[in-house]
Amino acid sequence: MQAPPRPYWQLNESVYTFSDWSYHAVMELDTANSAVSSATSFIVNALSKAIVEHRLAPGTKLSEQKVADQFGVSRTLVRQALFQLAQNRLIRLEPARGAFVATPSVTEAKQVFEVRRMLEAEMTRAFVRDVTPAMISALQAHVAQEKSAVERQDVAGRTALLGDFHVRMAALMGNEVLAQMLAELISRCSLITLMYQSASAAEHSNEDHADIVQALAARDEARAVRLMDEHLHHVEAQLTFDPKAPGNTLSTARS
Ligand SMILES: [Zn+2]
Repeated sequence: MQAPPRPYWQLNESVYTFSDWSYHAVMELDTANSAVSSATSFIVNALSKAIVEHRLAPGTKLSEQKVADQFGVSRTLVRQALFQLAQNRLIRLEPARGAFVATPSVTEAKQVFEVRRMLEAEMTRAFVRDVTPAMISALQAHVAQEKSAVERQDVAGRTALLGDFHVRMAALMGNEVLAQMLAELISRCSLITLMYQSASAAEHSNEDHADIVQALAARDEARAVRLMDEHLHHVEAQLTFDPKAPGNTLSTARS
Protein backbone atom coordinates (compact mmCIF):
# COMPACT_ATOMS: atom_id res chain seq x y z
CA MET A 1 0.00 0.00 0.00
CA GLN A 2 1.55 3.27 -1.08
CA ALA A 3 1.01 6.40 0.98
CA PRO A 4 -0.41 9.43 -0.83
CA PRO A 5 1.94 12.43 -1.21
CA ARG A 6 0.37 14.18 1.77
CA PRO A 7 -2.05 12.86 4.35
CA TYR A 8 -5.40 12.69 2.63
CA TRP A 9 -7.24 13.90 5.74
CA GLN A 10 -5.39 17.19 5.48
CA LEU A 11 -6.69 17.94 1.99
CA ASN A 12 -8.91 20.96 2.10
CA GLU A 13 -12.00 19.49 0.43
CA SER A 14 -15.37 21.13 0.52
CA VAL A 15 -17.70 18.74 2.24
CA TYR A 16 -21.38 18.02 2.39
CA THR A 17 -22.65 17.84 5.90
CA PHE A 18 -25.85 16.00 6.59
CA SER A 19 -26.56 16.64 10.22
CA ASP A 20 -24.74 17.37 13.44
CA TRP A 21 -25.27 13.90 14.80
CA SER A 22 -23.59 12.30 11.82
CA TYR A 23 -20.42 14.21 12.55
CA HIS A 24 -20.57 13.34 16.22
CA ALA A 25 -21.10 9.68 15.34
CA VAL A 26 -17.97 9.72 13.19
CA MET A 27 -15.98 11.33 15.97
CA GLU A 28 -17.21 8.89 18.59
CA LEU A 29 -16.08 5.89 16.57
CA ASP A 30 -12.45 6.69 17.33
CA THR A 31 -12.06 9.37 19.91
CA ALA A 32 -8.81 7.74 21.02
CA ASN A 33 -7.20 8.12 17.63
CA SER A 34 -7.97 11.38 15.94
CA ALA A 35 -5.94 10.53 12.81
CA VAL A 36 -8.00 7.38 12.26
CA SER A 37 -11.17 9.35 12.92
CA SER A 38 -10.16 12.05 10.43
CA ALA A 39 -9.34 9.43 7.82
CA THR A 40 -12.77 7.87 8.30
CA SER A 41 -14.55 11.18 7.97
CA PHE A 42 -12.46 12.04 4.92
CA ILE A 43 -13.70 8.85 3.21
CA VAL A 44 -17.27 9.51 4.38
CA ASN A 45 -17.16 13.04 2.98
CA ALA A 46 -15.52 12.09 -0.31
CA LEU A 47 -18.01 9.29 -0.96
CA SER A 48 -20.97 11.44 0.18
CA LYS A 49 -19.94 14.15 -2.23
CA ALA A 50 -19.52 11.64 -5.07
CA ILE A 51 -22.99 10.18 -4.39
CA VAL A 52 -24.72 13.55 -4.11
CA GLU A 53 -23.02 14.79 -7.28
CA HIS A 54 -24.06 11.61 -9.14
CA ARG A 55 -20.45 10.56 -9.73
CA LEU A 56 -21.40 7.31 -8.01
CA ALA A 57 -24.73 6.19 -9.44
CA PRO A 58 -27.56 4.79 -7.30
CA GLY A 59 -27.18 1.01 -6.99
CA THR A 60 -23.39 0.99 -7.59
CA LYS A 61 -21.63 -1.70 -5.56
CA LEU A 62 -18.88 -0.39 -3.28
CA SER A 63 -16.32 -3.13 -2.72
CA GLU A 64 -14.44 -2.72 0.57
CA GLN A 65 -11.17 -3.72 -1.06
CA LYS A 66 -11.54 -1.32 -3.99
CA VAL A 67 -12.44 1.60 -1.71
CA ALA A 68 -9.44 0.71 0.49
CA ASP A 69 -7.12 0.68 -2.54
CA GLN A 70 -8.59 3.89 -3.91
CA PHE A 71 -8.06 5.80 -0.66
CA GLY A 72 -4.89 3.97 0.42
CA VAL A 73 -6.34 2.91 3.77
CA SER A 74 -7.18 -0.31 5.60
CA ARG A 75 -10.43 -2.23 5.13
CA THR A 76 -11.21 -1.58 8.79
CA LEU A 77 -11.36 2.15 8.13
CA VAL A 78 -13.43 1.57 5.01
CA ARG A 79 -15.88 -0.56 7.00
CA GLN A 80 -16.30 2.27 9.54
CA ALA A 81 -16.90 4.77 6.73
CA LEU A 82 -19.47 2.51 5.05
CA PHE A 83 -21.27 2.02 8.36
CA GLN A 84 -21.46 5.79 8.75
CA LEU A 85 -22.76 6.26 5.20
CA ALA A 86 -25.43 3.62 5.87
CA GLN A 87 -26.57 5.58 8.94
CA ASN A 88 -26.91 8.65 6.73
CA ARG A 89 -29.05 6.55 4.35
CA LEU A 90 -26.62 7.25 1.52
CA ILE A 91 -25.72 3.59 1.07
CA ARG A 92 -27.36 0.34 2.09
CA LEU A 93 -25.51 -2.60 3.58
CA GLU A 94 -26.78 -6.01 2.50
CA PRO A 95 -25.77 -9.12 4.48
CA ALA A 96 -23.36 -11.29 2.46
CA ARG A 97 -23.65 -8.99 -0.58
CA GLY A 98 -21.89 -5.85 0.54
CA ALA A 99 -22.46 -2.11 0.25
CA PHE A 100 -24.48 -0.38 -2.47
CA VAL A 101 -25.14 3.28 -3.20
CA ALA A 102 -28.73 3.92 -2.05
CA THR A 103 -31.53 3.98 -4.58
CA PRO A 104 -34.01 6.51 -3.20
CA SER A 105 -37.61 5.45 -3.64
CA VAL A 106 -39.52 7.68 -6.06
CA THR A 107 -42.84 6.20 -4.92
CA GLU A 108 -42.12 7.11 -1.31
CA ALA A 109 -41.15 10.66 -2.29
CA LYS A 110 -44.42 11.11 -4.20
CA GLN A 111 -46.43 9.83 -1.22
CA VAL A 112 -44.56 12.19 1.10
CA PHE A 113 -45.49 15.17 -1.09
CA GLU A 114 -49.13 14.06 -1.14
CA VAL A 115 -49.25 13.99 2.67
CA ARG A 116 -47.44 17.34 2.89
CA ARG A 117 -49.99 19.02 0.62
CA MET A 118 -52.80 17.83 2.90
CA LEU A 119 -51.11 18.99 6.11
CA GLU A 120 -49.67 22.22 4.84
CA ALA A 121 -52.86 23.56 3.27
CA GLU A 122 -54.46 23.46 6.72
CA MET A 123 -51.29 24.78 8.36
CA THR A 124 -51.28 27.78 5.99
CA ARG A 125 -54.94 28.54 6.84
CA ALA A 126 -54.20 28.43 10.57
CA PHE A 127 -51.06 30.55 10.11
CA VAL A 128 -53.07 33.35 8.43
CA ARG A 129 -55.59 33.31 11.31
CA ASP A 130 -52.86 33.73 13.98
CA VAL A 131 -50.26 35.73 12.07
CA THR A 132 -48.29 38.48 13.88
CA PRO A 133 -45.62 40.90 12.58
CA ALA A 134 -42.98 38.96 14.57
CA MET A 135 -43.90 35.72 12.78
CA ILE A 136 -43.57 37.46 9.41
CA SER A 137 -40.17 38.97 10.32
CA ALA A 138 -38.92 35.51 11.36
CA LEU A 139 -40.00 33.98 8.04
CA GLN A 140 -38.50 36.88 6.07
CA ALA A 141 -35.16 36.39 7.85
CA HIS A 142 -35.32 32.67 7.06
CA VAL A 143 -36.03 33.31 3.37
CA ALA A 144 -33.00 35.66 3.25
CA GLN A 145 -30.78 32.88 4.67
CA GLU A 146 -32.09 30.47 2.02
CA LYS A 147 -31.29 32.99 -0.69
CA SER A 148 -27.67 33.31 0.41
CA ALA A 149 -27.23 29.51 0.57
CA VAL A 150 -28.68 29.23 -2.96
CA GLU A 151 -26.30 31.97 -4.16
CA ARG A 152 -23.22 30.30 -2.66
CA GLN A 153 -24.20 26.98 -4.32
CA ASP A 154 -24.23 25.36 -0.87
CA VAL A 155 -26.22 22.25 -1.86
CA ALA A 156 -26.53 20.68 1.59
CA GLY A 157 -27.16 24.04 3.26
CA ARG A 158 -29.84 25.16 0.84
CA THR A 159 -31.59 21.76 1.01
CA ALA A 160 -31.73 21.98 4.80
CA LEU A 161 -32.90 25.61 4.85
CA LEU A 162 -35.53 25.13 2.13
CA GLY A 163 -37.00 22.19 4.07
CA ASP A 164 -36.79 24.08 7.37
CA PHE A 165 -38.97 26.88 6.04
CA HIS A 166 -42.01 24.62 6.39
CA VAL A 167 -40.99 23.31 9.81
CA ARG A 168 -40.39 26.92 10.88
CA MET A 169 -43.96 27.89 9.97
CA ALA A 170 -45.34 25.15 12.24
CA ALA A 171 -42.92 26.08 15.04
CA LEU A 172 -43.84 29.78 14.82
CA MET A 173 -47.49 28.79 15.28
CA GLY A 174 -46.41 27.00 18.45
CA ASN A 175 -47.48 23.60 17.10
CA GLU A 176 -44.62 21.29 18.08
CA VAL A 177 -46.46 18.14 16.96
CA LEU A 178 -46.91 19.52 13.46
CA ALA A 179 -43.31 20.79 13.38
CA GLN A 180 -42.02 17.32 14.29
CA MET A 181 -44.26 15.58 11.76
CA LEU A 182 -43.11 17.89 8.97
CA ALA A 183 -39.45 17.49 9.93
CA GLU A 184 -39.84 13.70 9.73
CA LEU A 185 -41.68 13.87 6.38
CA ILE A 186 -39.10 16.22 4.89
CA SER A 187 -36.15 14.09 6.08
CA ARG A 188 -37.70 11.05 4.39
CA CYS A 189 -37.07 12.59 1.00
CA SER A 190 -34.03 14.75 1.77
CA LEU A 191 -31.67 12.32 -0.01
CA ILE A 192 -33.79 12.55 -3.16
CA THR A 193 -33.76 16.34 -2.89
CA LEU A 194 -29.98 16.41 -2.32
CA MET A 195 -29.40 14.18 -5.32
CA TYR A 196 -31.98 15.47 -7.76
CA GLN A 197 -32.83 19.12 -7.05
CA SER A 198 -31.10 21.44 -9.52
CA ALA A 199 -29.71 24.85 -8.59
CA SER A 200 -32.44 26.61 -10.60
CA ALA A 201 -35.15 24.54 -8.90
CA ALA A 202 -33.72 25.54 -5.50
CA GLU A 203 -33.78 29.20 -6.56
CA HIS A 204 -37.40 28.78 -7.68
CA SER A 205 -38.32 27.28 -4.28
CA ASN A 206 -36.76 30.25 -2.53
CA GLU A 207 -38.85 32.64 -4.67
CA ASP A 208 -42.00 30.60 -3.93
CA HIS A 209 -41.29 30.97 -0.22
CA ALA A 210 -40.92 34.75 -0.56
CA ASP A 211 -44.31 34.91 -2.35
CA ILE A 212 -45.95 32.76 0.33
CA VAL A 213 -44.61 35.05 3.08
CA GLN A 214 -46.01 38.06 1.23
CA ALA A 215 -49.49 36.48 1.05
CA LEU A 216 -49.29 35.53 4.75
CA ALA A 217 -48.31 39.10 5.65
CA ALA A 218 -51.31 40.39 3.67
CA ARG A 219 -53.53 37.85 5.51
CA ASP A 220 -54.71 36.67 2.10
CA GLU A 221 -55.75 33.15 3.06
CA ALA A 222 -56.93 31.95 -0.37
CA ARG A 223 -53.76 33.17 -2.08
CA ALA A 224 -51.44 31.79 0.58
CA VAL A 225 -53.08 28.34 0.47
CA ARG A 226 -52.98 28.28 -3.34
CA LEU A 227 -49.32 29.36 -3.43
CA MET A 228 -48.36 26.68 -0.89
CA ASP A 229 -50.15 23.97 -2.88
CA GLU A 230 -48.55 25.11 -6.15
CA HIS A 231 -45.15 25.31 -4.46
CA LEU A 232 -45.31 21.70 -3.23
CA HIS A 233 -46.37 20.57 -6.71
CA HIS A 234 -43.41 22.51 -8.21
CA VAL A 235 -40.88 20.98 -5.82
CA GLU A 236 -42.14 17.48 -6.56
CA ALA A 237 -42.25 18.03 -10.33
CA GLN A 238 -38.76 19.54 -10.42
CA LEU A 239 -37.10 16.51 -8.87
CA THR A 240 -35.95 14.84 -12.06
CA PHE A 241 -35.37 11.20 -11.29
CA ASP A 242 -32.75 10.74 -13.95
CA PRO A 243 -31.36 7.18 -13.93
CA LYS A 244 -28.36 8.27 -16.01
CA ALA A 245 -25.27 9.48 -14.21
CA PRO A 246 -22.01 10.77 -15.65
CA GLY A 247 -19.92 8.06 -14.03
CA ASN A 248 -20.21 5.20 -11.61
CA THR A 249 -16.69 4.12 -10.93
CA LEU A 250 -14.74 4.42 -7.74
CA SER A 251 -11.87 6.14 -9.49
CA THR A 252 -14.03 9.27 -9.79
CA ALA A 253 -15.00 9.25 -6.12
CA ARG A 254 -12.03 11.34 -4.99
CA SER A 255 -12.27 14.03 -7.65
ZN1 LIG B 1 -40.66 24.90 0.30
